Amino acid sequence: MSFYSTRGGACVTASQAILWGLAKDGGLYVPSMFPLLPEDRIFGFCDLSYQSIAERILSAFLEDYSKAEIREAVQAAYSPENFDDPAIVPLKSLDDRVQVMELFHGPTLAFKDIALKLLPYLIRMAAKKNEETREISIMVATSGDTGKAALEGFRDVDGTSCTVFYPHEGVSEMQRLQMVTTEGNNTHVIGVKGNFDDAQTGVKTLFGSAEFHEKMNALHKLPSSANSINFGRLVPQVVYYFSCYAQLVCSGKLRMGQPLNFVVPTGNFGDILAGYYAKRMGLPIGKLICASNRNNVLSDFFRDGVYYTHRTFFKTMSPSMDILISSNLERLLYESADRDPKVVSEWMRSLKESGSFSIGAQRLSALQQTFAAGFADDTMTAQEIRRVYEQTGYLMDPHTAVASYVQREYGLQTGDFSQTVILATASPYKFAPEVLAALQGSEAVQGLDAFQCAQKLQEMTGVPIPKQISALKSMPERHHTVCEIGEMQETMLNDFM
Ligand SMILES: *Cc1c(COP(=O)(O)O)cnc(C)c1O
Repeated sequence: MSFYSTRGGACVTASQAILWGLAKDGGLYVPSMFPLLPEDRIFGFCDLSYQSIAERILSAFLEDYSKAEIREAVQAAYSPENFDDPAIVPLKSLDDRVQVMELFHGPTLAFKDIALKLLPYLIRMAAKKNEETREISIMVATSGDTGKAALEGFRDVDGTSCTVFYPHEGVSEMQRLQMVTTEGNNTHVIGVKGNFDDAQTGVKTLFGSAEFHEKMNALHKLPSSANSINFGRLVPQVVYYFSCYAQLVCSGKLRMGQPLNFVVPTGNFGDILAGYYAKRMGLPIGKLICASNRNNVLSDFFRDGVYYTHRTFFKTMSPSMDILISSNLERLLYESADRDPKVVSEWMRSLKESGSFSIGAQRLSALQQTFAAGFADDTMTAQEIRRVYEQTGYLMDPHTAVASYVQREYGLQTGDFSQTVILATASPYKFAPEVLAALQGSEAVQGLDAFQCAQKLQEMTGVPIPKQISALKSMPERHHTVCEIGEMQETMLNDFM
């Protein structure tokens, strides 16, 4: 299998797509085809561990990695030291129709760990295969969770460094502390005085800058990306859709072949795109329901076929979804345009020049066969956290609660009450003040810091505080750099000196 750029031209191997991150023409790498898994193979996943399913899915895409290499990477990434649940992505029932798939059992308590624990192995192997001797300098723009997961993934990994740009004042206190306390002598954390889109655009601009590449080359460094624009981030996420389906079939909650809906709290469109890839590979997915917060650019897109970014950017209680430019949508657009890179390039040009593009009624209605969408603002999100807790005893983080709200609205509006899985993308303790306020009112958190809120939340709900959160309290802040939007290049290069 080879990989193309969504904007034409490139034809590269899997390891090259993973090593380089973004195609030279600014497009994203996409697989030349979707390997098909027949139902009896999916049924066979019933007897397999998460790791074994991962090996099979990864092998289907990453043809220039040997089976032994993939096994080594998977076993190291999904070890009991990294994930505190043997299922890796355990399911919890809310009722007899709706399950929650918990994707936050890794070291940084968000779903990003599932891909970012694996990616460093894939990148290091890719460097070797392509005889790359320069240091692989990972650059990441984060809306809160990718940053820490990337730092933990690449910390002290030989031959790599990791620089994270996060929106200064745009992440939760726990998210900030997680990043700025990171140890390791190859980690760099920089606050950008802007929002996530500014940070992401800044990183993409650096990737496109010949001057920057020259400067990095002079330092014997090769820039690469650990954002979900890297194909190596996507393919590990395809795995849990299969694992989830198999778990439900095994436990008798689902018949093999029965359609299953997934509701995905969405920002950069990576997680839900992995679900779309799973469907294209033959997994019986009914609808993929895209859940946004008040930055509802995607739910408007799936309603009107128009992507429109000239709108107010809102800071919400689900900061990892505070995004207006969803990078991975480009990969879906490529499929929607029948894989014609000229059409995609034209939409992207229009987006850059006028802040919007339109895909037309026919393509929209084709997408609506697979995708539904909705959004929840902060009031609805807080009410949902409380409703779910009071009715089921299950404690959700705000991102997951956005999805839960959208799930209920979707059922009421469409009458589609299929078996459904909500993707739980973060631990509620990453957002303890917001979650506590949702349960007890804003007075309850007055004057309390994030740790005191976590303590109260534990006392109230009995859900234990993860050790990664308690440990943060005594860790010194090691990274203090903050820069203007226009200074990302110099600041990054300075940090290497
Ligand atoms: C990153 C993130 C999301 C959004 O995922 P995308 O792949 O960017 O759509 C949702 N929830 C949490 C907690 C996240 O960290």
